Amino acid sequence: MTSLLSKIKDKTISERVLLALSFLLFVFVTPPTIIRFVEQNWTMVFVDSFILSNAAFIFYNTLRDRFISFLKYYMCTIVCVGVSMSVMFGGMEVIYWIYPTILTAFLLVKAKYAFMYLLFICICIAPTVISSVPAMEGLTIYFALFGSAGFINVFSSELSSENRSLNELASIDPLTGIKNRREFELEADRVIADFSGNVSNALIIIDIDDFKKLNDSFGHVIGDKVLQQFSQIINSILPKDAAVFRLGGEEFAIMMNNTELESAISLGERVKSAIDIDSDDKLPKYTVSMGVAVLKATEKLHEWTERADQAMYYSKRNGKNQVSAEMPDIKIRRSDASGLGQE
Ligand code: GH3
Ligand code: MG
Ligand code: MG
Repeated sequence: MTSLLSKIKDKTISERVLLALSFLLFVFVTPPTIIRFVEQNWTMVFVDSFILSNAAFIFYNTLRDRFISFLKYYMCTIVCVGVSMSVMFGGMEVIYWIYPTILTAFLLVKAKYAFMYLLFICICIAPTVISSVPAMEGLTIYFALFGSAGFINVFSSELSSENRSLNELASIDPLTGIKNRREFELEADRVIADFSGNVSNALIIIDIDDFKKLNDSFGHVIGDKVLQQFSQIINSILPKDAAVFRLGGEEFAIMMNNTELESAISLGERVKSAIDIDSDDKLPKYTVSMGVAVLKATEKLHEWTERADQAMYYSKRNGKNQVSAEMPDIKIRRSDASGLGQE
């Protein structure tokens, strides 16, 4: 129960809407289903079971962070079709359900799609509205629907732009402008969860050598500039399937998807020569030590980083300014100017 609550706490607003709606669908549809089952009304039992299984599907996958963007459109489609059918077959008494439905659409999907859902509902309910109320009242209903949608859109776009800024604050390291440790852990968890064994995922841990000395000799401000410039250099040589993170202090990580060990080692070598060649003349020279590890099946994040860390410490012990890799069969392999050696 506590782990369920902590999972819900980590969700975005739209994910919470998905969870709440699927849960409410479940709560409200279960009792009539039982009654219809007892009454042996099999058609309605079939319809209710369809709704219940969809609600369970959406709830379960939202909790597990799977197919979220698909689930949002799926949920919108279910509630919009549901409310349109209710008005078409149930009449004007149920028209009020359109308001929470519009709110749901604007919270779950982009505004232009939410407007399309609203248009769909308006077209579906038109015959009922035209045949049930005078023209003026019908126009008022449509005016109120689009007016509410406009207001909801203003608030929801404000909310999502605030959300974006908050997300950025929580995921970007302010000094270097690259992703922080929190993002690294999220990305690594995603990579581990998707790991199938068909493709390799490589991790490079990078630590700037003798950074304390650099700070002591040139001052903290210059140290900060070195960190910023180092991040820019890595960004400029980063391949398409890779991302760089600042783990803290003068320690960085590069996560490479669809990458074999050899390619990760050669990226490490490129980082080494890039800081040698591209460094700003006004900044002091520095070097880095790196450790590479490729993700193994059933491995946890701390085990993967531990192996990359061990390889990085090997580089440190072995004289710094080099790339080492942890191999599955050979403990440590070192890449240096004289080629690959082993411990
Ligand atoms: P090694 O080669 O073994 O890695 O030695 P090192 O000096 O790089 O490592 P150590 O862990 O002894 O020192 C790291 C230094 O990094 C100490 C700390 O003051 C400095 N540091 C950490 N974060 C920042 C930062 O944001 N800006 C600056 N300028 N320095 C930082
Ligand atoms: Mg260091
Ligand atoms: Mg360090």
